[in-house]
Amino acid sequence: KDAGKNTFRLFTPELELRLNDRVRLESKLRHAVEQREGLFLYYQPILNTVTRQITCREALIRFHHPLRGWISPGEFIPVAEESGLIGELGAWVIEQACLDAASWTDGARVAVNVSARQLGNGTLQPTILAALLKSGLPPDRLEIEVTETALLENELDSLADLRQMRAMGVRIALDDFGTGFSSLAHLRAFPFDKIKIDGSFVRDATTRADCAAIVGLVAELGTRLGVTTVAEGVETQAHFDLVRAEGCTEVQGYFFGRPAPMESLATRSEELKTA
Ligand code: C2E
Ligand code: CA
Ligand code: CA
Ligand code: CA
Repeated sequence: KDAGKNTFRLFTPELELRLNDRVRLESKLRHAVEQREGLFLYYQPILNTVTRQITCREALIRFHHPLRGWISPGEFIPVAEESGLIGELGAWVIEQACLDAASWTDGARVAVNVSARQLGNGTLQPTILAALLKSGLPPDRLEIEVTETALLENELDSLADLRQMRAMGVRIALDDFGTGFSSLAHLRAFPFDKIKIDGSFVRDATTRADCAAIVGLVAELGTRLGVTTVAEGVETQAHFDLVRAEGCTEVQGYFFGRPAPMESLATRSEELKTA
């Protein structure tokens, strides 16, 4: 009884407000997932550094809250993960991304982000198979992005899931490279098709020689492993010049195009705003 009272006293008005916010966000999100309402996929182009052709587009989820307006995935993805909604939400993302990409006439791949919670439980492979069959998208035009931190949870089972997807012909990218623990161990544990160098390195590389060295070294690592290296967060001409000189094979960032809805991908010139 006493302990119960003490625990109860921990709920200050401020914390209670935050918890209410959280519960409300979860219920709105649940409604959105069930009704397929207020959820959108935006796409951001990834280009070959030399040819400047779009090789891939990353699907980035957007949620329009009925009262609060647009909420960033940084806020609602953790809520989806903790509430168990991520399975259904993630399955919707994969299906919608495959359907969208099947209509692109330039043959670009589509990259989809998956959470730790979607890995290591054997559900990803059937979800992807169903999406590929429904959309008619060839498996090698789908790419799955996993972060280093996502791999740490349940590592062996997660790697088993990655192998299953790879066996279907789906490509696997290692996201936010360099920000987690044991980056090199991950490269040894699984033959990724692509390494995405985190934007934080790219952003600092034009002013810090050490960051430029790291970008260059990862690019060289990619070359030696025969793996594509994408520099994320390329916002300026100076960033682009640097990552190209350092040998990154692909680039992604506001300098080439912001995440945008499907409709604005209609023409390449609308999609690629370089300014
Ligand atoms: P991420 O996978 O690292 O995605 C890249 C983030 O960087 C995106 O933020 C993108 O809009 C942003 N970005 C792209 N270019 C630039 C640039 O030049 N400068 C700067 N400052 N930022 C840039 P966004 O869309 O807010 O997504 C944030 C994170 O949410 C993603 O990070 C990813 O981890 C997660 N996320 C997004 N969509 C999904 C999804 O469908 N499923 C899951 N599980 N996670 C998702
Ligand atoms: Ca990503
Ligand atoms: Ca990233
Ligand atoms: Ca990130």
